Amino acid sequence: MLPEFEYHRPASLEEAVRLLSELGPDAKVIAGGTDLVVKMRAGLVSPRHVVDLSRLTEIRFIRDGGDRLKIGAGTTLWEIENSEDVARGVPVLREAVEEMASWHVKTTATIGGNLCNASPAADTAPPLMVHDATLVVVGPEGRREVPIGEFFTGPGQTVLGVGEILVEVVVPKMRQGQGAAFEKLTVREGALSIASAAALVEISGGRFVDARVALGAVAPTPIRALKVERALKGRPATREVLRSASREAKADIKPITDVRGSREYREEMSVVLVRRALERAVERAGGVWA
Ligand SMILES: Cc1cc2nc3c(=O)[nH]c(=O)nc-3n(C[C@H](O)[C@H](O)[C@H](O)COP(=O)(O)OP(=O)(O)OC[C@H]3O[C@@H](n4cnc5c(N)ncnc54)[C@H](O)[C@@H]3O)c2cc1C
Repeated sequence: MLPEFEYHRPASLEEAVRLLSELGPDAKVIAGGTDLVVKMRAGLVSPRHVVDLSRLTEIRFIRDGGDRLKIGAGTTLWEIENSEDVARGVPVLREAVEEMASWHVKTTATIGGNLCNASPAADTAPPLMVHDATLVVVGPEGRREVPIGEFFTGPGQTVLGVGEILVEVVVPKMRQGQGAAFEKLTVREGALSIASAAALVEISGGRFVDARVALGAVAPTPIRALKVERALKGRPATREVLRSASREAKADIKPITDVRGSREYREEMSVVLVRRALERAVERAGGVWA
């Protein structure tokens, strides 16, 4: 049973922001509802007001912005999975979305909901982190931009203030010479990650000129694996360097034991997922091993 609440369905972003600032902390935004309704049913949250964003067409788009792709927060995962622009510009995001949930969940679930729910296991986060995405937020004080690395503050927590809505995800597109890949460990297809990893590399002259790695479900928030990255940058793109750098993942993470997996299992599997993601990213970047 759902707890009682008052339902609001604003017709514009401006109205939604005004409504949310009037209602204050007792109000919760709902997009697809695939996280929020589950939490409300379980009694984990019981907002007095629910503000539905589904009429806000202005936050539902995928736009080509030259060297960046702009994705409205209200865009569904299904639209992302089927977008040619995403497939070309940010293929690693598409790869992650393909591995999420079932198609019918994805037709209502949004990218904004996945990020704002702030689960450490949010599968869109690692690909967006290796792409250094920026999140555009609108609230009572106006518009601001937050680098994705600064967005999550803890499990279920973000930097969003009262009345603020995530409106857009701006993602620098993949460049020539770069390759990226996503790896997910789960108990069955479409289930939440036990652990996940995304990698983006750029190789030139047989060396890693850039390497970005991010992990999900192995820390209180999705994280960048900075020690792995440091062990790669500037080094020869050999399998040995890659294997040894992947082992650094253990020092980057802070996994816990929960219903999906133990701390020790997550530690071991993080190394494996990082290595696999890096290997596939290298192949996609040109496939030449020094
Ligand atoms: C069967 C099933 C399988 C799933 N599998 C996966 C999976 O494999 N991987 C995965 O990562 N997730 C999975 N999920 C979780 C969920 O589907 C996703 O996180 C989804 O993207 C949430 O989007 P939503 O639009 O439904 O969010 P909602 O439930 O509407 O909202 C989630 C949270 O974000 C807030 N919010 C939503 N939009 C905004 C916004 N624009 N601005 C500010 N706050 C906002 C809401 O207030 C709420 O707190 C699964 C869920 C189900 C039910």
